[in-house]
Amino acid sequence: MLILTAYFLSLIIMIMPAAHPKLLIDRFGRTVDYLRISITDRCDFRCVYCMAEDMTFLPREQILTLEEIHTLAKAFAELGVTKIRITGGEPLVRKGALELLENIGRIESLQELVITTNGSQLETMAMDLKAAGIKRINISLDTLDDDKFKAITRTGNLQQVLRGIQAAKRAGFERIKINTVVLKNQNHLEVCNLVQYAVDNGLDISFIEEMPLGIVDQHDRSSAYYSSDLIKQDLAQQFSLVASLEKTGGPSNYFKVNGTSSRVGFISPHSDNFCSTCNRVRLTVEGRLLLCLGNEHSVDLKAVLRAHPGNMAILKQTIIEAMLIKPEKHEFNVHEQPVILRYMNMTGG
Ligand code: SAM
Ligand code: SF4
Repeated sequence: MLILTAYFLSLIIMIMPAAHPKLLIDRFGRTVDYLRISITDRCDFRCVYCMAEDMTFLPREQILTLEEIHTLAKAFAELGVTKIRITGGEPLVRKGALELLENIGRIESLQELVITTNGSQLETMAMDLKAAGIKRINISLDTLDDDKFKAITRTGNLQQVLRGIQAAKRAGFERIKINTVVLKNQNHLEVCNLVQYAVDNGLDISFIEEMPLGIVDQHDRSSAYYSSDLIKQDLAQQFSLVASLEKTGGPSNYFKVNGTSSRVGFISPHSDNFCSTCNRVRLTVEGRLLLCLGNEHSVDLKAVLRAHPGNMAILKQTIIEAMLIKPEKHEFNVHEQPVILRYMNMTGG
């Protein structure tokens, strides 16, 4: 049955017109039109929830070249992907990242090219990113306290990131969103301050429940769990949040901060499962196509690329067939040892 479905899908691909053909449909009827690409597993930070302190990164020959990433982006766009997010690791520490972004930005059928960064390089790179065609940018910021920032990121410098955020504002992106992973007893008391910072700077902010990806040391995920509902209760003390129907094609539920231009989002993999509307897949820097953040189902696209250089038809057919193993939902349980052993920097968060 699976083989027959894949065969018919591949017939369709040959006869469909090129513009937004929506060829990536899984067994549950969900259309995949959003790809997140991790362009490096390396990072200048070591956030406690994302990485172990002592990480081994992939050797160069094991990772996709910039040309291979571009080819894959084109293949996905030809199959109906209209939005690509570049992420990592820290995407802006990869040499050649800007050129890659420019090349992906030139793919005609792509409607949105966005990036998630820790902000460390923005002070010098924000203008170039804007010039490369990036319209929206997500910047991670978990705390406004220098010492806590150091404790959470291990190697990061808060002031450098804050200067990066100001540089991004000056560069004039259409929207800048702060991403905050909320950790009980580490930064949960700061949620109001962070929203106030977003409001004061005309930014949006999303609060994220931590996900159990990879085995981390010096950090207990179970005791750090802090639900979106608790964050909402905390925010209600200081802000009036008005539910918004607006969606950005992601799992965030949005609220307007009354009387301001800022929105607050909640990404709640544990307390509010969003899998039924999942529209995305992820590409690791090793060229593994991950069909779900919280499962190991994957297809090795690097092997296909390298076995059939220049053959877009085989590559695209492999991607179409991969949709047939996209799982229905993630299996995260923050109170158990992770079943997913890959870290978020590998996954492309
Ligand atoms: N280095 C960039 C950054 O930090 O924005 C991009 C990659 S990072 C993996 C992308 C996002 O994933 C960040 O907002 C980070 O806070 C979040 N993240 C990392 N590990 C996570 C985890 N275990 N659970 C939830 N979010 C996580
Ligand atoms: Fe680096 Fe981003 Fe992971 Fe922090 S969350 S260690 S900045 S990849």
